[in-house]
Amino acid sequence: MENRPVTLADLKELDAPVRAHCNNCQNADYVSTEGMPEDTIVIHIARKLRCSHCGSKDVTSRPCYQHMVPQHPQETSQQ
Ligand SMILES: [Zn+2]
Repeated sequence: MENRPVTLADLKELDAPVRAHCNNCQNADYVSTEGMPEDTIVIHIARKLRCSHCGSKDVTSRPCYQHMVPQHPQETSQQ
């Protein structure tokens, strides 16, 4: 397997959204990637984000493959 960062083009192929997670208040939400270039690296999106809940910039963005794999029980209980 190629070892390279996941980009928006990869997610588009898989029809998977990007999810952001705040490391300060644990708030999690989907990110609108509309208008972003397809070569945008998913984990770099967080640099431009700010938590909508607490305003923290300590945010992590990652691909959301939840519709493809079973959810972790931990994440389900947070919803
Ligand atoms: Zn927050």
